[in-house]
Amino acid sequence: MDFDLIVIGAGPGGYVTAIRASQLGLKTAIIEREALGGICLNWGCIPTKALLKSGEVYEQLSHLADYGIKIEGRSYDFAKVVERSRGVAKQLSSGVAFLMKKHKIEVIDGTATLQKASPAPKVVVALKAGGARTLQAKNVILATGARARTIPQIGLEPDGEFIWTYREAMVPKACPKSLLVIGSGAIGIEFASFYRALGAEVTVIEALDRILPVEDEEVSVAARKAFEKRGLKFRVGAKVTKLSKTKTGVSIALEAAGKAETLEAERAIVAVGISGNVENLGLEALGVAVDRGHVVIDTHCATNVPGLYAIGDVAGPPWLAHKASHEGVHCVEHIAGLKPNGLTAPIPGCTYAQPQVASVGLTEAAAKAAGHEVKVGRFPFRVNGKAIAAGETEGFVKTVFDAKTGALLGAHMIGGEVTEMIQGFAIAMTLEATEADLMATVFPHPTMSEAMHESVLDAFGQVLHL
Ligand SMILES: Cc1cc2nc3c(=O)[nH]c(=O)nc-3n(C[C@H](O)[C@H](O)[C@H](O)COP(=O)(O)OP(=O)(O)OC[C@H]3O[C@@H](n4cnc5c(N)ncnc54)[C@H](O)[C@@H]3O)c2cc1C
Repeated sequence: MDFDLIVIGAGPGGYVTAIRASQLGLKTAIIEREALGGICLNWGCIPTKALLKSGEVYEQLSHLADYGIKIEGRSYDFAKVVERSRGVAKQLSSGVAFLMKKHKIEVIDGTATLQKASPAPKVVVALKAGGARTLQAKNVILATGARARTIPQIGLEPDGEFIWTYREAMVPKACPKSLLVIGSGAIGIEFASFYRALGAEVTVIEALDRILPVEDEEVSVAARKAFEKRGLKFRVGAKVTKLSKTKTGVSIALEAAGKAETLEAERAIVAVGISGNVENLGLEALGVAVDRGHVVIDTHCATNVPGLYAIGDVAGPPWLAHKASHEGVHCVEHIAGLKPNGLTAPIPGCTYAQPQVASVGLTEAAAKAAGHEVKVGRFPFRVNGKAIAAGETEGFVKTVFDAKTGALLGAHMIGGEVTEMIQGFAIAMTLEATEADLMATVFPHPTMSEAMHESVLDAFGQVLHL
């Protein structure tokens, strides 16, 4: 037996799993075909936040007069903006290499495939350096992640120049003058926000009837208004029928309210979802159950094949880094016989646009659909002292409670730095807090987080500052 555990894929799912495995005394190897840190550190969470920070700083410069500060003109060096983002990604990827070494995890650079064996499938690695290694472990965890979903039949696939997925959108040579973004989920909205902040004319096309469709409807409405104020344009309820290249850019044919229409721009970003990396792994020969592009797992992330587990993006939504890590830790603790708690903790979701959006748990509509009688509280930042002092009065906090038990079912926020605040409600939900616990919690003054407290008070008719 070469290892106790082999992890395939070194994204936030795989590398965190490997560290936890090493802490638990398992002899562990991790196989990565591209770069340590996966999509998250190299092409996703981290480099987008670096780009967005540049956009945010640049946008803020146009509001300095509001703070009594004068500057003459403003400009940016686009190549430097992108270079900074790549530097941040590289720094974090090197950090993962350090962590692997520290935890004595063997990193194998290459592409893994699986072959039938016992007690777990054999792992054959085509090494980057040439040659191959065949390895046997007691258990194997698939953490191969996902990639941008493409729909070639209607032209929704990158050409590397005019039509981008997140990969091309992350490292463009120049900021396009005009941009069409197909899809208004977190990835589409974040790129739209970044390019708009740097001056591009951006139109976001969404097939459903509202943007950020997984968010609470009130948040979607407020987000659209806030983004439109910054010059973003939206076409909702619009179905793209064809995306094609023109001599100078792209052309999109769409159908909205029964009418056909064409939009043109210099570039397009396809952000219509995610497909799991399930191909070329040997899953078919092993008989691994796969459903709509994702490996099917049980409550401990086990597949239907003994000794083979799957975590993170390859195992299905929500496609989030913290979900991948959380599943990985749970899975490896289960393998080590620790009997971890079930995978029931609520998973927060964030969109790092201007303003930010963050949520955890059920939307009001989902809570009602699940049969809850609800009490709903809201508190706007426009009457929050810190928000007024900071000049960040956009947005609100909304909380949804079960009217009978007082259990917090969901929290939804839009505004400055709400992605840093949502964790308060995530902890509350994980600890099964009720309205009484939240009301009895002391929030520091002055902070934007006081709006969280007030939203809870509002749900039970005790709001103080409204
Ligand atoms: C633009 C963008 C922004 C995002 N922003 C956020 C955010 O702000 N917050 C958030 O939580 N999530 C965000 N995400 C999602 C997040 O990146 C993913 O949910 C996360 O990376 C999933 O982790 P993972 O470990 O499952 O897979 P991945 O990070 O995809 O890692 C999988 C790894 O497996 C490797 N691999 C695949 N097949 C093989 C093989 N056969 N052999 C060897 N190696 C293999 C791949 O090369 C890859 O490195 C964003 C995604 C994108 C695209």
